Amino acid sequence: FSKLKTGLAKTRKVLTTDINELFGPGKAIDEVLFEELEELLITSDLGIDITMEMMERIKKKSKKLSSAEELKQVLKEELIDLFPNTSTDTSTGTSDTAKEKPVTKPHVIMVVGVNGTGKTTTLGKLAMKFTSQGKKVLIAAADTFRAAAIEQVEIWADRSNSSIVRHKAGADPAAVAYDAVEASIARDIDIVLIDTAGRLHTQKNLMEELKKIKRSVNKKMPGAPHEVLMVLDATTGQNAISQATLFNQAVELTQIALTKLDGTAKGGIVAAISSTMKLPITYIGVGEKIEDLQEFDASRFVTALFD
Ligand code: GDP
Repeated sequence: FSKLKTGLAKTRKVLTTDINELFGPGKAIDEVLFEELEELLITSDLGIDITMEMMERIKKKSKKLSSAEELKQVLKEELIDLFPNTSTDTSTGTSDTAKEKPVTKPHVIMVVGVNGTGKTTTLGKLAMKFTSQGKKVLIAAADTFRAAAIEQVEIWADRSNSSIVRHKAGADPAAVAYDAVEASIARDIDIVLIDTAGRLHTQKNLMEELKKIKRSVNKKMPGAPHEVLMVLDATTGQNAISQATLFNQAVELTQIALTKLDGTAKGGIVAAISSTMKLPITYIGVGEKIEDLQEFDASRFVTALFD
């Protein structure tokens, strides 16, 4: 929890300082307070629409309240409510949306995201997490566009004691993914993590490639991929939402990992993404170290921001 608080220091600095001032002793619940709060929420990158809707609800509820301190509690609850009511089964990385299905073996997680967002680091950390739980993990090096990407996931495979399926640079990524699932079935692997390209010559090519990877995995194993995890960089703010929308149209995302929250004061983006995309945020990155990738929990997150 202290890691989470430290990682969120920038957002906390803005939010907590201002919030404590806003809801300080003797503060009246009036239009001035509402305006200041609205401004604060917009500054934290919650997005205009979400802020406006939330302010409406807060104003309604405030009629029954007598102190600014009580209003702070209402704000906290409203923020937690912004997250869809989904949790993740952390032993398999399965989000609630997919929980109805029986846990399959191998459980295939396709990891997508634009280059530089922290996709490789997140994939590597997930591999470490699963192998440390005693699971057999296989990584598919399906970003064949960059030779360096193959080397990077190889390092993570070594580090985490995972197997790897790789072809030459420039090979067909869909074939890599297909082979990886085939090998995983044969080798009794628990979790397959598919690394994918984050950039090609054009955006259209990238989306077509991701769709093809998804199709080929599904051909080898009906029902797979069981999760499509998108990695987003929190410091890109509202742009992250446009990225997620684009990828969602192509490969139907099931969960989101949001990295680099330590690098922004606009932590409100977590709620904005989750609420706009109607997708669970399952992991957040609050630093570069392995322990800095944390499972996301809305109430812990909001508490870390406020207290
Ligand atoms: P990829 O191109 O999307 O695969 O990105 P990488 O995994 O190579 O990460 C790009 C950079 O972001 C690396 O220097 C990572 O160490 C860094 N990074 C990843 N996650 C976080 C995070 O949560 N916080 C910070 N500060 N840096 C991160």
